[in-house]
Amino acid sequence: MTQERGVVYLVGAGPGDPGLMTVRGRDLLRSADVVVFDRLIGRELLAESRDGAELVDVGKMPGRHRVPQEQINEIIVDRARRGLTVVRLKGGDPFVFGRGFEEWTACREAGVECIVVPGVSSALAAPAAAGIPVTSRGVAASVAIATAENAAENRPAFDATALARIDTVVILMGRARLEQVTRSLIAAGRDPSTPAACIERATTPRQRVTVATLATIAVAVERDGLCAPIVTVVGEVAAYAADRGARGQSPLCGKRIVITRPRSSSNELERMLSAAGATTIRCPMIRIVYPTSNDALDEAIRKIDRYHWLVFSSVHGVIGFWRRLAILGLDARALGSCKVAAVGPATAKRLRRQGILPELVPPAFDGDALARSICESSSAPLGRVLYPCGNLARPTVPEALRRCGARVDAIEVYTTVDATPSEMTRKLISEGVDAMLFCSPSAVRRFATLGLRAEGALIACIGPTTAAAARSAGLQVDVIADMHSAGAMTATLEHYYSAVGAAK
Ligand code: SAH
Repeated sequence: MTQERGVVYLVGAGPGDPGLMTVRGRDLLRSADVVVFDRLIGRELLAESRDGAELVDVGKMPGRHRVPQEQINEIIVDRARRGLTVVRLKGGDPFVFGRGFEEWTACREAGVECIVVPGVSSALAAPAAAGIPVTSRGVAASVAIATAENAAENRPAFDATALARIDTVVILMGRARLEQVTRSLIAAGRDPSTPAACIERATTPRQRVTVATLATIAVAVERDGLCAPIVTVVGEVAAYAADRGARGQSPLCGKRIVITRPRSSSNELERMLSAAGATTIRCPMIRIVYPTSNDALDEAIRKIDRYHWLVFSSVHGVIGFWRRLAILGLDARALGSCKVAAVGPATAKRLRRQGILPELVPPAFDGDALARSICESSSAPLGRVLYPCGNLARPTVPEALRRCGARVDAIEVYTTVDATPSEMTRKLISEGVDAMLFCSPSAVRRFATLGLRAEGALIACIGPTTAAAARSAGLQVDVIADMHSAGAMTATLEHYYSAVGAAK
């Protein structure tokens, strides 16, 4: 997305869980030419950047020091001046203790456009993720956010007297100075027995919570070995802390799951896994291409009256067929009295979107069962069958139908082609993920051809055919969902992880 005049987007990445970034922020990240990011940014988010984007880590330099602020300002201004679109990705909200305003000011002074995309700040998300309401009717009517950094000797940067009177005090960057901060609040008149809680790595799978009082929290945090980043909450509301309780109890919570499906068909699976608390990483191994012309299909559609059955064994088959119908200026009415069969619930659902209620969805969702059910559906001869399929479709369905006496026209309406994951995504997978999901043999084969490795990851496959392909590619299959649907895959994974959890 190179444009003549560059622009810097100061984007809030949220507190840690990649699902807590805003939709606008993610869209910008996906199209940015340059992504400049900090230490606390989740790797999963970086995998959203487009292949070929420049990724600049300003969280650490080779010598493990942070890049000085002036240099960060220079980097973003320089890239924007070259006409590039820069996403400056900052933890939480860009304007909450992140020196975001300094970067915004540097851009303005350099005449570079800078747009702020707010984020979910850890100041609010960390308490929420620990079950602490920062305000609560009758308990806390005011809340303040303070930093423990920038303190002079023995004196925090904030006005402790003013802060001691606020119902809920949220302290960021407080790990190193927790004792000093709590002492200053007590000295300013805050009751030492006020509840206090510290939340480490909030909203991530490694979230931990320690609850104590203002007088004892520093020692308790030391005892529990909590490390930065932590958010500290002081106030009556801190007593409500409940570790994980506020984040949902799904066994998929915090799991990093790679989806190898084509982008076009991974949305529902992504949505369901995210809703269950998992972090999804898109890594399509294949892409679906629909031909721009298809004489064989056009001819079949024109003569649709002669077919008795229209059989779909995939969602892509439905999409490819309806694309062609639309191009020919037709709609579902063109099907006339032709009966329709779908291999499983996902294909049937897609047909319903096109206004078709399939006559037949077999009880077991595979090609063999589909052909068998069609054969058994009538005592009369089957007649002609139109089977819109992909270039990799196995011959099982047409062969079984032909054995029942049908005349089958199998016509390719889509092609599966290889996709190549970005460098960042490959790195992410090799660094360790919890599970890899495969929904087709072609995705498995592509994974093997690319020589990707996912050491220690759970291998989950949809259907026996995909599982067989995974085994012959040398993968050890841990889980098989027996239905071709996002719901079935999600439920199978939940079942697996709760059984593993129960066994521990
Ligand atoms: N702009 C950020 C804050 C940057 S200052 C925001 O709005 O969240 C960095 C501090 O944020 C850390 O020292 C810590 O106090 C807090 N922080 C950020 N992410 C956190 C997380 N996941 N868990 C706990 N604290 C976090």
